[in-house]
Amino acid sequence: MGRPREELRGIGASPGVGVGPALLVDSQNPHARHHHIGSGEAAFEIERLKAAIERSRCELEDIRARLGEEAPADYRLILEAHLMMHSDELLIDVATKAIEDEAVNAEWAVERAVGQIARHLAQAPVDYFRDRSADVEHVGRRIIAQLAGRSSSLPAELAGSVLVTDDLHPADAAQLIETPVAALVTGLGSATSHTAILARTLEIPTVVGIAGIVEQVGEGDELVVDGFAGRVVLEPEPAECDRARLRGQRWRQFTQKLREQAGDRVETRDGVPIELLANVDLPAEAALAQEEGVHGIGLYRTEFLFMSRREPPSEDEQAQVYSDIVRVSAPRSVTLRTIDLGGDALSIESHAPRVPNPALGLRAIRLGLARPELFHDQLKALLRAAAEGRIRVMFPLISGVHELRLAKAALSQARRELLTRGERVGEPEVGVMIELPSAVVMADRLARECDFLSVGTNDLVQYGLAVDRANPEVAYLAESLDPAILRMLDSVVRAASAVDKPLSMCGDMAADALVLPLVLGLGYRVLSVPLSAVPLVREVVRRVDTTTARALAEKALDCATAEEVRAALVAEFAGQLGDLWSETGIEHA
Ligand code: PEP
Ligand code: MG
Repeated sequence: MGRPREELRGIGASPGVGVGPALLVDSQNPHARHHHIGSGEAAFEIERLKAAIERSRCELEDIRARLGEEAPADYRLILEAHLMMHSDELLIDVATKAIEDEAVNAEWAVERAVGQIARHLAQAPVDYFRDRSADVEHVGRRIIAQLAGRSSSLPAELAGSVLVTDDLHPADAAQLIETPVAALVTGLGSATSHTAILARTLEIPTVVGIAGIVEQVGEGDELVVDGFAGRVVLEPEPAECDRARLRGQRWRQFTQKLREQAGDRVETRDGVPIELLANVDLPAEAALAQEEGVHGIGLYRTEFLFMSRREPPSEDEQAQVYSDIVRVSAPRSVTLRTIDLGGDALSIESHAPRVPNPALGLRAIRLGLARPELFHDQLKALLRAAAEGRIRVMFPLISGVHELRLAKAALSQARRELLTRGERVGEPEVGVMIELPSAVVMADRLARECDFLSVGTNDLVQYGLAVDRANPEVAYLAESLDPAILRMLDSVVRAASAVDKPLSMCGDMAADALVLPLVLGLGYRVLSVPLSAVPLVREVVRRVDTTTARALAEKALDCATAEEVRAALVAEFAGQLGDLWSETGIEHA
Protein backbone atom coordinates (compact mmCIF):
# COMPACT_ATOMS: atom_id res chain seq x y z
CA MET A 1 0.00 0.00 0.00
CA GLY A 2 1.30 3.44 -0.91
CA ARG A 3 1.86 6.26 1.48
CA PRO A 4 -1.37 8.19 2.24
CA ARG A 5 -1.95 11.74 1.08
CA GLU A 6 -0.53 14.22 3.57
CA GLU A 7 -0.56 18.00 3.90
CA LEU A 8 2.29 19.95 5.45
CA ARG A 9 1.83 23.54 6.59
CA GLY A 10 4.43 26.28 6.24
CA ILE A 11 4.48 29.95 5.32
CA GLY A 12 3.35 31.03 1.88
CA ALA A 13 6.33 33.14 0.78
CA SER A 14 5.68 33.64 -2.91
CA PRO A 15 2.25 33.27 -4.54
CA GLY A 16 1.32 30.72 -7.19
CA VAL A 17 0.87 26.96 -7.35
CA GLY A 18 3.47 24.49 -8.62
CA VAL A 19 3.37 20.75 -9.24
CA GLY A 20 6.30 18.46 -9.97
CA PRO A 21 8.69 15.76 -8.77
CA ALA A 22 10.74 16.62 -5.69
CA LEU A 23 14.39 17.37 -6.19
CA LEU A 24 16.10 17.13 -2.83
CA VAL A 25 19.09 19.28 -2.10
CA ASP A 26 20.62 18.63 1.27
CA SER A 27 24.06 19.91 0.43
CA GLN A 28 23.17 23.02 2.38
CA ASN A 29 24.09 21.29 5.57
CA PRO A 30 27.58 19.89 5.38
CA HIS A 31 28.52 18.93 8.89
CA ALA A 32 31.97 20.11 9.72
CA ARG A 33 34.56 17.76 11.15
CA HIS A 34 35.62 19.09 14.55
CA HIS A 35 39.05 18.37 15.96
CA HIS A 36 41.79 20.07 17.86
CA ILE A 37 44.99 20.80 16.07
CA GLY A 38 48.50 20.22 17.32
CA SER A 39 50.91 22.97 18.24
CA GLY A 40 52.52 24.32 15.12
CA GLU A 41 49.52 23.49 12.90
CA ALA A 42 47.74 26.83 13.28
CA ALA A 43 49.49 28.47 10.35
CA PHE A 44 48.51 25.55 8.08
CA GLU A 45 44.84 25.69 9.20
CA ILE A 46 44.73 29.45 8.66
CA GLU A 47 46.10 28.90 5.15
CA ARG A 48 43.41 26.23 4.49
CA LEU A 49 40.79 28.67 5.75
CA LYS A 50 42.01 31.48 3.53
CA ALA A 51 42.19 29.20 0.49
CA ALA A 52 38.63 27.94 1.10
CA ILE A 53 37.32 31.47 1.46
CA GLU A 54 39.08 32.39 -1.75
CA ARG A 55 37.62 29.40 -3.66
CA SER A 56 34.16 30.17 -2.33
CA ARG A 57 34.59 33.80 -3.35
CA CYS A 58 35.69 32.77 -6.86
CA GLU A 59 32.64 30.52 -7.14
CA LEU A 60 30.38 33.45 -6.34
CA GLU A 61 32.33 35.73 -8.70
CA ASP A 62 31.75 33.12 -11.36
CA ILE A 63 28.03 33.10 -10.73
CA ARG A 64 28.04 36.89 -10.86
CA ALA A 65 29.85 36.86 -14.18
CA ARG A 66 27.28 34.43 -15.60
CA LEU A 67 24.40 36.63 -14.56
CA GLY A 68 23.20 38.79 -17.38
CA GLU A 69 22.07 42.36 -17.01
CA GLU A 70 18.51 41.03 -16.99
CA ALA A 71 19.01 39.29 -13.63
CA PRO A 72 16.78 40.86 -11.00
CA ALA A 73 18.45 43.76 -9.25
CA ASP A 74 17.59 42.35 -5.81
CA TYR A 75 19.37 39.22 -6.70
CA ARG A 76 22.51 40.99 -7.82
CA LEU A 77 22.53 42.98 -4.62
CA ILE A 78 22.22 39.91 -2.43
CA LEU A 79 25.06 38.30 -4.30
CA GLU A 80 27.11 41.44 -3.69
CA ALA A 81 26.27 41.28 0.02
CA HIS A 82 27.42 37.65 0.17
CA LEU A 83 30.57 38.46 -1.70
CA MET A 84 31.20 41.25 0.77
CA MET A 85 30.83 38.80 3.65
CA HIS A 86 33.75 36.86 2.17
CA SER A 87 35.98 39.80 2.94
CA ASP A 88 34.28 40.49 6.25
CA GLU A 89 37.07 41.11 8.70
CA LEU A 90 34.92 40.08 11.62
CA LEU A 91 34.27 36.61 10.20
CA ILE A 92 37.92 36.10 9.29
CA ASP A 93 39.25 37.59 12.56
CA VAL A 94 37.01 35.52 14.82
CA ALA A 95 37.77 32.30 12.90
CA THR A 96 41.53 32.96 12.85
CA LYS A 97 41.52 33.75 16.54
CA ALA A 98 39.68 30.50 17.30
CA ILE A 99 42.36 28.55 15.37
CA GLU A 100 45.19 30.33 17.15
CA ASP A 101 43.84 30.57 20.69
CA GLU A 102 41.68 27.48 20.99
CA ALA A 103 43.55 25.12 18.67
CA VAL A 104 40.43 24.18 16.67
CA ASN A 105 40.50 23.15 13.02
CA ALA A 106 39.36 25.54 10.28
CA GLU A 107 35.86 23.99 9.88
CA TRP A 108 35.17 24.29 13.57
CA ALA A 109 36.55 27.83 13.62
CA VAL A 110 34.23 28.90 10.79
CA GLU A 111 31.24 27.37 12.57
CA ARG A 112 32.14 29.27 15.71
CA ALA A 113 32.57 32.59 13.95
CA VAL A 114 29.36 32.18 11.98
CA GLY A 115 27.46 31.03 15.08
CA GLN A 116 28.63 34.05 17.03
CA ILE A 117 27.69 36.57 14.34
CA ALA A 118 24.40 34.86 13.52
CA ARG A 119 23.38 34.69 17.19
CA HIS A 120 23.78 38.42 17.60
CA LEU A 121 21.84 39.12 14.44
CA ALA A 122 19.14 36.66 15.48
CA GLN A 123 18.50 38.66 18.65
CA ALA A 124 17.60 41.75 16.67
CA PRO A 125 14.06 42.93 17.29
CA VAL A 126 13.38 43.55 13.62
CA ASP A 127 12.51 40.59 11.34
CA TYR A 128 14.68 41.92 8.62
CA PHE A 129 17.86 41.63 10.67
CA ARG A 130 16.92 38.35 12.22
CA ASP A 131 16.66 37.02 8.68
CA ARG A 132 20.12 38.32 7.80
CA SER A 133 21.61 35.85 10.28
CA ALA A 134 20.59 33.17 7.74
CA ASP A 135 22.77 34.90 5.15
CA VAL A 136 25.81 34.69 7.39
CA GLU A 137 25.07 30.99 7.93
CA HIS A 138 24.80 30.43 4.18
CA VAL A 139 28.19 31.95 3.62
CA GLY A 140 29.66 29.86 6.44
CA ARG A 141 28.25 26.65 4.92
CA ARG A 142 29.71 27.56 1.57
CA ILE A 143 33.15 27.99 3.10
CA ILE A 144 32.85 24.75 5.08
CA ALA A 145 31.85 22.86 1.92
CA GLN A 146 34.95 24.25 0.24
CA LEU A 147 37.10 23.12 3.16
CA ALA A 148 35.79 19.60 2.46
CA GLY A 149 36.68 20.06 -1.21
CA ARG A 150 33.08 20.38 -2.38
CA SER A 151 31.23 23.05 -4.24
CA SER A 152 27.78 23.81 -2.85
CA SER A 153 25.93 24.63 -6.02
CA LEU A 154 22.71 23.02 -7.20
CA PRO A 155 22.54 20.11 -9.66
CA ALA A 156 22.30 21.16 -13.31
CA GLU A 157 18.95 19.52 -14.11
CA LEU A 158 16.25 21.49 -12.33
CA ALA A 159 13.62 22.49 -14.87
CA GLY A 160 10.10 21.48 -13.89
CA SER A 161 11.10 20.08 -10.48
CA VAL A 162 9.98 21.14 -7.06
CA LEU A 163 13.17 22.09 -5.30
CA VAL A 164 13.11 20.89 -1.68
CA THR A 165 15.91 22.06 0.55
CA ASP A 166 16.66 23.16 4.09
CA ASP A 167 17.52 26.61 2.91
CA LEU A 168 18.46 27.92 -0.47
CA HIS A 169 21.65 29.88 -0.76
CA PRO A 170 20.77 33.06 -2.65
CA ALA A 171 23.81 32.46 -4.83
CA ASP A 172 22.26 29.18 -5.95
CA ALA A 173 19.21 31.05 -7.08
CA ALA A 174 21.30 32.08 -10.13
CA GLN A 175 20.42 28.72 -11.56
CA LEU A 176 16.76 29.36 -10.89
CA ILE A 177 16.95 32.42 -13.10
CA GLU A 178 18.38 30.32 -15.90
CA THR A 179 16.35 27.14 -15.28
CA PRO A 180 13.05 27.85 -13.61
CA VAL A 181 11.74 25.28 -11.16
CA ALA A 182 8.04 24.54 -10.74
CA ALA A 183 8.13 25.50 -7.08
CA LEU A 184 10.37 25.82 -4.06
CA VAL A 185 9.97 24.45 -0.53
CA THR A 186 12.39 25.19 2.29
CA GLY A 187 12.72 24.01 5.86
CA LEU A 188 13.97 27.31 7.19
CA GLY A 189 13.08 30.87 6.39
CA SER A 190 10.32 33.38 6.83
CA ALA A 191 8.36 35.57 4.47
CA THR A 192 10.98 38.31 4.78
CA SER A 193 14.06 36.12 4.24
CA HIS A 194 16.24 36.76 1.21
CA THR A 195 15.14 33.47 -0.31
CA ALA A 196 11.54 34.62 -0.07
CA ILE A 197 12.33 38.04 -1.56
CA LEU A 198 14.11 36.35 -4.47
CA ALA A 199 11.38 33.80 -5.01
CA ARG A 200 8.83 36.59 -5.28
CA THR A 201 11.03 38.48 -7.71
CA LEU A 202 11.48 35.34 -9.83
CA GLU A 203 7.77 34.52 -9.39
CA ILE A 204 8.39 30.98 -8.17
CA PRO A 205 5.57 29.57 -6.00
CA THR A 206 7.23 29.09 -2.62
CA VAL A 207 6.48 27.71 0.83
CA VAL A 208 9.08 28.26 3.54
CA GLY A 209 9.42 27.23 7.17
CA ILE A 210 8.44 23.52 7.07
CA ALA A 211 10.92 22.21 9.60
CA GLY A 212 12.50 18.90 8.61
CA ILE A 213 11.01 18.92 5.10
CA VAL A 214 14.10 17.24 3.63
CA GLU A 215 13.55 14.19 5.84
CA GLN A 216 9.86 13.91 4.99
CA VAL A 217 10.04 13.91 1.20
CA GLY A 218 11.63 11.32 -1.08
CA GLU A 219 13.54 12.16 -4.26
CA GLY A 220 11.11 12.18 -7.19
CA ASP A 221 7.92 12.21 -5.05
CA GLU A 222 5.18 14.20 -6.74
CA LEU A 223 4.35 17.36 -4.75
CA VAL A 224 1.77 20.11 -4.95
CA VAL A 225 3.04 23.43 -3.58
CA ASP A 226 0.49 26.12 -2.80
CA GLY A 227 2.38 29.38 -2.26
CA PHE A 228 -0.85 31.23 -1.38
CA ALA A 229 -1.88 29.04 1.51
CA GLY A 230 1.63 27.95 2.55
CA ARG A 231 0.71 24.29 1.98
CA VAL A 232 2.59 21.33 0.50
CA VAL A 233 0.71 18.15 -0.42
CA LEU A 234 2.61 14.84 -0.39
CA GLU A 235 1.15 11.97 -2.45
CA PRO A 236 -1.58 14.08 -4.06
CA GLU A 237 -4.33 12.40 -6.13
CA PRO A 238 -3.85 12.78 -9.90
CA ALA A 239 -7.02 14.90 -10.09
CA GLU A 240 -5.60 17.21 -7.40
CA CYS A 241 -2.41 17.62 -9.44
CA ASP A 242 -4.43 18.55 -12.51
CA ARG A 243 -6.45 21.13 -10.57
CA ALA A 244 -3.27 22.56 -9.06
CA ARG A 245 -1.57 22.83 -12.45
CA LEU A 246 -4.57 24.66 -13.81
CA ARG A 247 -4.60 27.02 -10.85
CA GLY A 248 -0.89 27.77 -11.31
CA GLN A 249 -1.42 28.50 -14.97
CA ARG A 250 -4.38 30.77 -14.22
CA TRP A 251 -2.32 32.73 -11.72
CA ARG A 252 0.48 33.28 -14.25
CA GLN A 253 -1.99 34.49 -16.86
CA PHE A 254 -3.68 36.68 -14.28
CA THR A 255 -0.48 38.46 -13.13
CA GLN A 256 0.53 38.90 -16.75
CA LYS A 257 -2.82 40.52 -17.52
CA LEU A 258 -2.55 42.86 -14.52
CA ARG A 259 0.88 43.96 -15.71
CA GLU A 260 -0.37 44.67 -19.19
CA GLN A 261 -3.12 46.86 -17.78
CA ALA A 262 -0.62 49.02 -15.92
CA GLY A 263 -0.77 52.70 -16.62
CA ASP A 264 0.31 55.76 -14.76
CA ARG A 265 -3.10 56.82 -13.61
CA VAL A 266 -4.49 55.03 -10.59
CA GLU A 267 -7.99 55.95 -9.59
CA THR A 268 -10.96 54.31 -7.96
CA ARG A 269 -14.05 53.27 -9.88
CA ASP A 270 -15.66 56.62 -9.10
CA GLY A 271 -12.60 58.56 -10.25
CA VAL A 272 -10.88 59.37 -6.96
CA PRO A 273 -7.11 59.58 -7.63
CA ILE A 274 -4.88 57.37 -5.52
CA GLU A 275 -1.16 57.90 -5.18
CA LEU A 276 0.53 54.53 -5.45
CA LEU A 277 4.06 54.36 -4.06
CA ALA A 278 6.54 51.54 -3.56
CA ASN A 279 8.21 50.17 -0.45
CA VAL A 280 11.84 49.45 -1.17
CA ASP A 281 14.27 47.41 0.95
CA LEU A 282 17.26 47.29 -1.38
CA PRO A 283 18.65 50.34 -3.20
CA ALA A 284 18.55 48.47 -6.52
CA GLU A 285 14.77 48.15 -6.22
CA ALA A 286 14.44 51.89 -6.88
CA ALA A 287 15.04 51.31 -10.60
CA LEU A 288 12.54 48.45 -10.64
CA ALA A 289 9.99 50.73 -8.99
CA GLN A 290 10.34 53.12 -11.91
CA GLU A 291 9.63 50.25 -14.31
CA GLU A 292 6.46 49.36 -12.37
CA GLY A 293 5.28 52.91 -12.98
CA VAL A 294 4.66 53.86 -9.34
CA HIS A 295 4.36 57.49 -8.29
CA GLY A 296 7.43 57.45 -6.09
CA ILE A 297 8.97 55.61 -3.18
CA GLY A 298 6.89 55.83 -0.02
CA LEU A 299 9.24 53.88 2.21
CA TYR A 300 12.89 53.14 1.72
CA ARG A 301 14.16 51.04 4.62
CA THR A 302 17.68 52.42 4.97
CA GLU A 303 18.76 49.86 7.56
CA PHE A 304 19.77 47.35 4.90
CA LEU A 305 22.84 49.45 4.23
CA PHE A 306 23.99 48.93 7.80
CA MET A 307 23.96 45.17 7.58
CA SER A 308 26.62 42.58 6.95
CA ARG A 309 29.37 44.90 7.97
CA ARG A 310 31.40 45.67 11.00
CA GLU A 311 31.35 49.43 10.76
CA PRO A 312 28.30 51.46 9.81
CA PRO A 313 28.52 53.09 6.38
CA SER A 314 30.20 56.50 6.42
CA GLU A 315 28.33 59.74 5.81
CA ASP A 316 29.85 59.93 2.32
CA GLU A 317 28.89 56.40 1.40
CA GLN A 318 25.33 56.95 2.59
CA ALA A 319 25.08 60.28 0.80
CA GLN A 320 26.11 58.51 -2.39
CA VAL A 321 23.54 55.72 -2.06
CA TYR A 322 20.70 58.08 -1.12
CA SER A 323 21.59 60.50 -3.93
CA ASP A 324 21.60 57.63 -6.44
CA ILE A 325 18.12 56.58 -5.33
CA VAL A 326 16.89 60.14 -5.59
CA ARG A 327 18.33 60.52 -9.08
CA VAL A 328 16.91 57.21 -10.31
CA SER A 329 13.48 58.16 -8.96
CA ALA A 330 13.42 61.79 -10.18
CA PRO A 331 11.16 63.67 -10.60
CA ARG A 332 9.20 61.55 -8.14
CA SER A 333 9.80 61.84 -4.43
CA VAL A 334 11.54 59.34 -2.19
CA THR A 335 10.65 58.85 1.46
CA LEU A 336 13.74 57.68 3.30
CA ARG A 337 13.15 56.26 6.71
CA THR A 338 15.94 56.68 9.23
CA ILE A 339 17.37 53.41 10.52
CA ASP A 340 14.86 51.05 12.07
CA LEU A 341 16.92 48.46 13.82
CA GLY A 342 17.74 47.42 17.31
CA GLY A 343 20.96 47.79 19.25
CA ASP A 344 21.88 44.13 18.98
CA ALA A 345 21.99 44.14 15.20
CA LEU A 346 24.46 46.96 15.19
CA SER A 347 26.76 45.76 17.88
CA ILE A 348 27.51 42.21 16.86
CA GLU A 349 31.03 42.47 18.18
CA SER A 350 30.14 43.94 21.56
CA HIS A 351 28.22 41.00 23.05
CA ALA A 352 25.28 43.22 23.93
CA PRO A 353 23.26 41.58 26.70
CA ARG A 354 20.04 39.92 25.59
CA VAL A 355 17.07 41.97 26.70
CA PRO A 356 13.78 40.30 27.59
CA ASN A 357 11.57 42.37 25.24
CA PRO A 358 13.69 43.64 22.35
CA ALA A 359 10.63 45.00 20.51
CA LEU A 360 10.04 47.27 23.51
CA GLY A 361 13.69 48.19 23.80
CA LEU A 362 16.29 50.29 22.04
CA ARG A 363 14.84 50.15 18.55
CA ALA A 364 14.39 52.53 15.61
CA ILE A 365 14.29 56.23 16.58
CA ARG A 366 15.25 55.32 20.14
CA LEU A 367 18.46 53.80 18.89
CA GLY A 368 19.11 56.84 16.69
CA LEU A 369 18.71 59.21 19.62
CA ALA A 370 20.81 57.00 21.89
CA ARG A 371 23.64 56.74 19.35
CA PRO A 372 24.00 60.34 18.10
CA GLU A 373 27.25 59.68 16.22
CA LEU A 374 25.48 57.07 14.12
CA PHE A 375 22.28 59.06 13.67
CA HIS A 376 24.07 62.28 12.78
CA ASP A 377 26.01 60.69 9.97
CA GLN A 378 22.78 59.40 8.52
CA LEU A 379 20.96 62.72 8.90
CA LYS A 380 23.83 64.58 7.26
CA ALA A 381 23.84 62.11 4.38
CA LEU A 382 20.08 62.53 3.98
CA LEU A 383 20.35 66.33 3.94
CA ARG A 384 23.10 66.18 1.33
CA ALA A 385 21.05 63.86 -0.87
CA ALA A 386 18.08 66.20 -0.44
CA ALA A 387 20.05 68.78 -2.42
CA GLU A 388 19.85 66.38 -5.38
CA GLY A 389 16.09 65.91 -5.55
CA ARG A 390 12.83 65.39 -3.70
CA ILE A 391 13.43 63.66 -0.40
CA ARG A 392 11.17 63.19 2.57
CA VAL A 393 12.78 62.09 5.82
CA MET A 394 10.66 59.82 7.98
CA PHE A 395 11.27 58.85 11.62
CA PRO A 396 10.19 55.33 12.67
CA LEU A 397 8.50 54.25 15.90
CA ILE A 398 7.91 57.76 17.22
CA SER A 399 6.08 57.46 20.54
CA GLY A 400 5.19 61.09 21.12
CA VAL A 401 5.85 64.77 20.47
CA HIS A 402 8.89 64.95 22.73
CA GLU A 403 10.66 62.31 20.68
CA LEU A 404 9.73 64.04 17.43
CA ARG A 405 11.17 67.30 18.74
CA LEU A 406 14.43 65.55 19.67
CA ALA A 407 14.67 63.98 16.22
CA LYS A 408 13.99 67.31 14.53
CA ALA A 409 16.58 69.01 16.72
CA ALA A 410 19.11 66.38 15.64
CA LEU A 411 18.24 67.13 12.02
CA SER A 412 18.73 70.89 12.60
CA GLN A 413 22.07 70.27 14.21
CA ALA A 414 23.14 68.10 11.27
CA ARG A 415 22.13 70.91 8.94
CA ARG A 416 24.19 73.48 10.91
CA GLU A 417 27.22 71.23 10.78
CA LEU A 418 26.91 70.81 7.03
CA LEU A 419 26.46 74.52 6.45
CA THR A 420 29.53 75.26 8.54
CA ARG A 421 31.41 72.82 6.35
CA GLY A 422 30.12 74.66 3.28
CA GLU A 423 28.12 71.69 1.95
CA ARG A 424 25.04 71.98 -0.23
CA VAL A 425 21.98 70.86 1.71
CA GLY A 426 18.35 70.35 0.72
CA GLU A 427 15.12 71.09 2.57
CA PRO A 428 13.45 67.70 3.00
CA GLU A 429 9.96 67.40 4.35
CA VAL A 430 9.96 65.67 7.72
CA GLY A 431 7.42 63.04 8.70
CA VAL A 432 6.54 60.54 11.36
CA MET A 433 5.55 56.91 11.20
CA ILE A 434 2.43 56.17 13.15
CA GLU A 435 2.96 52.66 14.45
CA LEU A 436 2.49 52.90 18.20
CA PRO A 437 -0.85 53.34 20.00
CA SER A 438 0.57 56.40 21.78
CA ALA A 439 1.33 58.00 18.42
CA VAL A 440 -2.23 57.29 17.28
CA VAL A 441 -3.62 59.03 20.35
CA MET A 442 -1.30 62.01 19.83
CA ALA A 443 -1.48 62.04 16.02
CA ASP A 444 -3.11 65.51 15.94
CA ARG A 445 -0.27 67.03 17.92
CA LEU A 446 2.37 65.14 15.98
CA ALA A 447 0.81 66.27 12.70
CA ARG A 448 1.06 69.89 13.77
CA GLU A 449 4.80 69.57 14.23
CA CYS A 450 5.75 67.69 11.07
CA ASP A 451 5.02 67.69 7.34
CA PHE A 452 3.39 64.28 6.90
CA LEU A 453 2.27 61.09 8.65
CA SER A 454 2.62 57.53 7.40
CA VAL A 455 0.93 54.62 9.14
CA GLY A 456 3.01 51.48 9.64
CA THR A 457 0.32 48.89 10.12
CA ASN A 458 2.74 45.99 10.60
CA ASP A 459 3.93 47.46 13.86
CA LEU A 460 0.61 49.08 14.71
CA VAL A 461 -1.00 45.64 14.76
CA GLN A 462 1.94 44.27 16.76
CA TYR A 463 1.90 47.00 19.38
CA GLY A 464 -1.83 47.73 19.24
CA LEU A 465 -2.86 44.14 19.87
CA ALA A 466 0.30 43.10 21.78
CA VAL A 467 1.12 40.36 19.27
CA ASP A 468 4.76 39.61 18.46
CA ARG A 469 5.12 39.94 14.68
CA ALA A 470 7.60 37.11 14.52
CA ASN A 471 6.01 34.59 16.89
CA PRO A 472 4.01 31.94 15.00
CA GLU A 473 2.22 30.87 18.22
CA VAL A 474 0.34 34.14 18.44
CA ALA A 475 0.23 34.97 14.74
CA TYR A 476 -3.49 34.13 14.62
CA LEU A 477 -4.13 37.15 16.87
CA ALA A 478 -2.45 39.57 14.45
CA GLU A 479 -5.74 40.48 12.89
CA SER A 480 -5.68 43.68 10.91
CA LEU A 481 -9.47 43.63 10.65
CA ASP A 482 -9.77 43.93 14.42
CA PRO A 483 -12.12 46.88 15.06
CA ALA A 484 -9.56 48.27 17.51
CA ILE A 485 -7.09 48.63 14.65
CA LEU A 486 -9.73 50.13 12.36
CA ARG A 487 -10.68 52.70 14.98
CA MET A 488 -7.04 53.66 15.34
CA LEU A 489 -6.70 54.03 11.57
CA ASP A 490 -9.83 56.15 11.50
CA SER A 491 -8.61 58.44 14.23
CA VAL A 492 -5.32 59.03 12.38
CA VAL A 493 -7.22 60.08 9.24
CA ARG A 494 -9.19 62.59 11.30
CA ALA A 495 -6.07 63.92 13.01
CA ALA A 496 -4.21 64.45 9.73
CA SER A 497 -7.13 66.07 7.94
CA ALA A 498 -7.89 68.39 10.88
CA VAL A 499 -4.55 70.09 10.27
CA ASP A 500 -4.51 69.35 6.54
CA LYS A 501 -1.36 67.26 6.57
CA PRO A 502 -0.60 64.54 4.00
CA LEU A 503 -1.20 61.01 5.22
CA SER A 504 -0.13 57.69 3.73
CA MET A 505 -0.16 54.05 4.71
CA CYS A 506 3.03 52.06 4.20
CA GLY A 507 2.30 48.91 6.21
CA ASP A 508 1.19 45.69 4.54
CA MET A 509 -2.52 46.40 5.09
CA ALA A 510 -2.28 48.73 2.10
CA ALA A 511 -1.26 45.76 -0.06
CA ASP A 512 -3.89 43.32 1.15
CA ALA A 513 -6.55 42.77 -1.51
CA LEU A 514 -9.15 41.85 1.11
CA VAL A 515 -8.56 44.76 3.48
CA LEU A 516 -7.90 47.45 0.89
CA PRO A 517 -11.54 48.53 0.33
CA LEU A 518 -11.73 49.30 4.05
CA VAL A 519 -8.47 51.25 3.94
CA LEU A 520 -9.90 53.32 1.08
CA GLY A 521 -13.22 53.64 2.88
CA LEU A 522 -11.47 55.01 5.95
CA GLY A 523 -10.03 57.75 3.74
CA TYR A 524 -6.47 56.67 2.89
CA ARG A 525 -5.52 58.05 -0.52
CA VAL A 526 -1.76 57.46 -0.57
CA LEU A 527 -0.64 53.84 -0.44
CA SER A 528 2.92 52.57 -0.31
CA VAL A 529 3.18 48.84 -1.00
CA PRO A 530 5.85 46.20 -1.72
CA LEU A 531 6.85 46.24 -5.38
CA SER A 532 5.50 42.76 -6.03
CA ALA A 533 2.04 43.91 -4.88
CA VAL A 534 1.81 46.95 -7.15
CA PRO A 535 -0.17 45.38 -10.05
CA LEU A 536 -2.72 43.79 -7.72
CA VAL A 537 -3.22 46.92 -5.62
CA ARG A 538 -3.72 48.97 -8.76
CA GLU A 539 -6.42 46.61 -9.92
CA VAL A 540 -8.26 46.51 -6.56
CA VAL A 541 -8.24 50.32 -6.42
CA ARG A 542 -9.73 50.54 -9.90
CA ARG A 543 -12.64 48.32 -8.90
CA VAL A 544 -13.58 50.00 -5.61
CA ASP A 545 -16.15 52.74 -5.38
CA THR A 546 -15.29 55.11 -2.52
CA THR A 547 -18.89 55.85 -1.55
CA THR A 548 -19.57 52.15 -1.03
CA ALA A 549 -16.21 51.78 0.70
CA ARG A 550 -17.01 54.70 3.04
CA ALA A 551 -20.35 53.13 4.00
CA LEU A 552 -18.58 49.84 4.68
CA ALA A 553 -15.98 51.60 6.84
CA GLU A 554 -18.77 53.23 8.92
CA LYS A 555 -20.29 49.82 9.44
CA ALA A 556 -16.94 48.23 10.29
CA LEU A 557 -16.14 50.90 12.87
CA ASP A 558 -19.32 49.87 14.63
CA CYS A 559 -18.53 46.11 14.59
CA ALA A 560 -17.51 44.26 17.74
CA THR A 561 -15.14 41.66 16.28
CA ALA A 562 -12.85 41.04 13.33
CA GLU A 563 -15.19 38.26 12.16
CA GLU A 564 -18.06 40.73 11.93
CA VAL A 565 -15.89 43.15 9.96
CA ARG A 566 -14.80 40.39 7.62
CA ALA A 567 -18.39 39.28 7.03
CA ALA A 568 -19.48 42.85 6.22
CA LEU A 569 -16.51 43.34 3.93
CA VAL A 570 -17.09 40.11 2.03
CA ALA A 571 -20.84 40.78 1.71
CA GLU A 572 -20.20 44.21 0.24
CA PHE A 573 -17.23 43.57 -2.05
CA ALA A 574 -17.27 39.89 -3.07
CA GLY A 575 -19.16 40.93 -6.21
CA GLN A 576 -16.44 43.33 -7.37
CA LEU A 577 -13.39 41.66 -5.92
CA GLY A 578 -14.27 37.97 -5.44
CA ASP A 579 -12.31 36.84 -8.49
CA LEU A 580 -9.21 38.77 -7.37
CA TRP A 581 -9.50 37.30 -3.88
CA SER A 582 -9.83 33.80 -5.31
CA GLU A 583 -6.86 34.32 -7.59
CA THR A 584 -4.73 35.46 -4.64
CA GLY A 585 -5.85 32.61 -2.41
CA ILE A 586 -8.04 34.66 -0.06
CA GLU A 587 -10.88 32.44 1.14
CA HIS A 588 -14.17 34.29 1.13
CA ALA A 589 -16.91 31.82 0.36
C1 PEP B 1 5.27 48.88 9.51
O1 PEP B 1 5.57 48.68 10.68
O2 PEP B 1 4.13 48.73 9.05
C2 PEP B 1 6.31 49.30 8.55
C3 PEP B 1 6.00 49.69 7.33
O3 PEP B 1 7.60 49.23 8.94
P1 PEP B 1 8.42 47.86 9.08
O4 PEP B 1 7.59 46.78 8.44
O5 PEP B 1 9.71 48.10 8.40
O6 PEP B 1 8.54 47.72 10.56
MG1 MG C 1 7.46 49.35 11.45
